[in-house]
Amino acid sequence: APKTVLITGCSSGIGLALAVKMARDKQKRFKVIATMRNLGKRGCLEAAAGVTLNKTLEIRQLDVCDERSIISCINSIPNRHVDILINNAGVGMIGPIECQTIEEMKGVMETNFFGVVRMIKEVLPDMKRRRSGHIVVISSVMGLQGIMFNDIYTASKFAVEGFCESLVIQALKFNIFVSLIEPGPVVTEFETKVYEDAENADYSTTDPETADMFTNLYLKNSKAIFSSLGQTPNDIAEHTLRVISATKPPFRHQTNAVYTPMTALKHADPTGALMTDTFYKMVFKYDTLMHISLKAIKVIRWQARKMRQGVKMLGFS
Ligand code: NAD
Repeated sequence: APKTVLITGCSSGIGLALAVKMARDKQKRFKVIATMRNLGKRGCLEAAAGVTLNKTLEIRQLDVCDERSIISCINSIPNRHVDILINNAGVGMIGPIECQTIEEMKGVMETNFFGVVRMIKEVLPDMKRRRSGHIVVISSVMGLQGIMFNDIYTASKFAVEGFCESLVIQALKFNIFVSLIEPGPVVTEFETKVYEDAENADYSTTDPETADMFTNLYLKNSKAIFSSLGQTPNDIAEHTLRVISATKPPFRHQTNAVYTPMTALKHADPTGALMTDTFYKMVFKYDTLMHISLKAIKVIRWQARKMRQGVKMLGFS
């Protein structure tokens, strides 16, 4: 029988691409419950779903910030049976923290962190009882490494990573897999939305130097990075499908190899100096970047050798 897959945040971007890709699976392995907060925005998904609509893909309302909407959506599924939960809904936020209210920050945590917690709390007991299931979370490389002016967004993704890292061991005892997908930049409405917010923001609540750093240095570089290194929602959907299809799904999966060294810096040097030096130079002293990157690679190689020795000493290999 096809597996029931519930995906959150399917009105656009990665969620939409993934819902359609799974619904169109040639081997018909999935029945997709594509959920969204506002059913008024179902048009794009319906168009992309085409003939799969109401066959292998059904659209339902679900707001990850509203427990009642989560419960009523799960209750509407026969036997509340969800084989694969994909936590995709998320919001971004960029800018100097002096320009963001605590309420706005809480909003990001509500969606990106508590949204995931609410969903998992609702499906976990049934998965445990059946002793099977797969919980997937669309995290980010920013769940592994902080990036300037993404303070709160990064914190929300770190929270998700820590939560899943704690849960995964218990879940495995019940034969439930947990997987974090960690994309770098992806060209979706996400990017457009954060830039729109950034353009309309009031920077008078921070000092001129910080405001200039954000609007001139950060925004310009960020746009260049998205256009040169950005992946498509379809790329992320393909990576996610591979993780879901694996016999032993990985706990972590990065979709963009360019970002892997960046996330390794803190592990190579536990004092954090390698990471802070690299990022400082990357942002403020671009010309010395090559030099520091080569040094970083050497340190990472050295550390990897040490780690392998350590693992051997502990008798794990
Ligand atoms: P997107 O804005 O196109 O999609 C996010 C979706 O989440 C939207 O459809 C939005 O309506 C929905 N959503 C927001 N709040 C919700 C709520 N309370 N309940 C239900 N749905 C809600 O952007 P995307 O890039 O496709 O983002 C999907 C996920 O990928 C997010 O978790 C994001 O953090 C993550 N991600 C994005 C990027 C990127 O660069 N775009 C990079 C790494 C990770």
